[in-house]
Amino acid sequence: RFCVFDAAMRGRMNRRAGIVRDIGLLLAAPGATHATAGRLAVHYQPQVRLIDGRLVGAEALLRWQHPRHGWIEPGEFIPIVEETGLIVPLGEWVLRQACAEATGWPSSVRLAVNLSAAQLGRLGLEAMVTTVLADSGLPAPRLELEITETALMHDPDRALACVQSLRALGVGIALDDFGTGYSSLAQLATLPVDTLKIDRSFVAALGREGGGQAEAIVRLIVQLARTMGMHTLAEGVETDRQRAVLRACGCEMVQGFFCSAAVEPQALRVLLAQRGQGVWPESAVSDLA
Ligand code: C2E
Ligand code: MG
Ligand code: MG
Ligand code: MG
Repeated sequence: RFCVFDAAMRGRMNRRAGIVRDIGLLLAAPGATHATAGRLAVHYQPQVRLIDGRLVGAEALLRWQHPRHGWIEPGEFIPIVEETGLIVPLGEWVLRQACAEATGWPSSVRLAVNLSAAQLGRLGLEAMVTTVLADSGLPAPRLELEITETALMHDPDRALACVQSLRALGVGIALDDFGTGYSSLAQLATLPVDTLKIDRSFVAALGREGGGQAEAIVRLIVQLARTMGMHTLAEGVETDRQRAVLRACGCEMVQGFFCSAAVEPQALRVLLAQRGQGVWPESAVSDLA
């Protein structure tokens, strides 16, 4: 038997092994800069309410700056970190960092943090969240944990129990990348979810030629969310046109490059100081009424 093992495959395997090794090194002293592995940082992407243009929240997004590979995207390393189980300590570190940071924000600004499927299935998640909230002093209602539809489908019964226990703490739950997974409407109805995050694949088509179908889907999701008493937030909003269409569809909040990419903690503090109470982004002022 032959096995085709080319240079590209070897490259990928080396990179993968490198990621596992480096994340292991970084977790020994997360936040610090390591000579060969670089550093981990949490950046924050603003979430803006469409009805008044207020900055109402920010999502914590993990960033890895590597001395040789530059900035490595979470899409590349999170799946690998999930397979190895390192996502558990890494996810806890992100939550700790983010909760500590968010205590310095105005109390009207919520913090959103992603939870991976591996964290969701684990015993002790609720205790971990409780401890981190207590240590940081962030009130539970100011935290929203984001769970992807796919993570929920993994083990729906367990996920449901987990979500219920988190909600009992007073923490909000958002369903991330909504519309890309396969959750049935029946399952959705039983889930105690506060916010539906409309996946950016629907948003990308809005305002484009042939975007009518995506717009119809967005309208439907917004209606569905309303019926179930959930908030709606559209991800990946890049243009003013998309923002305007989303507003017309009744979507409550947006997040995306149109408002801001994820920024360093200090940059978010500056934004909050300048615009926390103002209308944002400025181009939205024209159609506020
Ligand atoms: P997500 O939770 O759906 O996060 C949104 C992603 O969309 C982020 O990518 C963000 O930078 C990107 N994005 C924001 N606005 C725009 C836009 O206008 N256009 C486009 N094209 N993209 C936009 P990022 O930071 O690369 O993160 C990718 C995914 O990695 C996240 O998707 C999330 O699932 C995961 N992730 C990131 N940080 C963490 C973490 O701390 N823990 C866990 N478990 N997962 C994380
Ligand atoms: Mg998310
Ligand atoms: Mg998402
Ligand atoms: Mg997404």
